[in-house]
Amino acid sequence: MTPQTLDALPTALDYAALSKDELTERIRRRKAELDAVILGHNYQRVEIQEVSDYLGDSLGLSQEAAATDAAVIVFCGVHFMAETAKVLSPDKTVLMPDLRAGCPMADFVTGDALRRLKARHPDAAVVAYVNSTAEVKALSDICCTSSNAVRIVESIPRDQPILFVPDRNLADYVAEKTGRTNIIAWDGYCYVHDDLVLDELDRVQAAHPEARVVVHPEARRELLERADFVTSTSGMVDLAEDHDALIIGTERGLVDRLRQRFPEKTLLPLSGAAICGNMKMNTLAKLAWCLDHGAHEVTLDEGIRSGAERSLRRMLDLSGGWRAPTAEEAELEAAGVRPRGCGCA
Ligand code: SF4
Repeated sequence: MTPQTLDALPTALDYAALSKDELTERIRRRKAELDAVILGHNYQRVEIQEVSDYLGDSLGLSQEAAATDAAVIVFCGVHFMAETAKVLSPDKTVLMPDLRAGCPMADFVTGDALRRLKARHPDAAVVAYVNSTAEVKALSDICCTSSNAVRIVESIPRDQPILFVPDRNLADYVAEKTGRTNIIAWDGYCYVHDDLVLDELDRVQAAHPEARVVVHPEARRELLERADFVTSTSGMVDLAEDHDALIIGTERGLVDRLRQRFPEKTLLPLSGAAICGNMKMNTLAKLAWCLDHGAHEVTLDEGIRSGAERSLRRMLDLSGGWRAPTAEEAELEAAGVRPRGCGCA
């Protein structure tokens, strides 16, 4: 990799020897030189969130990035999220600190496997959760988020079968909410949410009976049935605004961020072990290396990019489309209060 600045160090390991202040200073300087914005997903390490220009879920972040004039987007998240940024901003350079930061749920379904399933169900509509690769989105009729999945599925004629990829738990939740029996779910899942279990909830609830329970729809049905609220990560941010005590069933990164923001509240992780190791592959050292070396760039075949854009835009049109935030919304967002978006993705 060719360094793009004279004081670049050869490897991310060399950057890891620098102090947090040195890394932060270097990141801020290079970001300005490159005309870059840094997008930090809700599940990123706190030190990454601290240097991010925007925080949120992947689709919201990609939309923010598409609306800026910046030439370079550095996506601190997992691979399908950086792909979504590229889909919506084809003329911008999209970089990731670590290309190996993939999403095991997205990787459950490949383009070839989906082609084979479509061939067996030629009349079915394909709904792809945004936690999927660009290729899978391009092969789908429409995308959905965990916030709008029910509405998207309800927009499809009731007698038309649906292939729902890749999250079996979200598919199950949508089937239950819509009463549809013709949803064929891919057998994929998010290991972070699928691993949340009732025993852990029982323990936290016994210690904090006053706390309401909110769980992400990527979790299993038995947990959703015990929850007071089922919503996306952005919906959880809204709930934390309104409640003094919450048990939160999602990745620790979001819970930690909310605890920092509302230190006076009782905000508890449903499981202390709910950590996405893939998200945590991005570090401050790798981010500094990425900016100094102009790597790793995420590129897409134009046919795949435009196909994925079509599925995403269909979803956005059905959800009222996307518009730039008003001044009031931008102010709320700067204070960490985001409008409802999707889940991990
Ligand atoms: S939290 Fe789950 S869905 Fe999100 S990146 Fe990690 S494995 Fe994928």
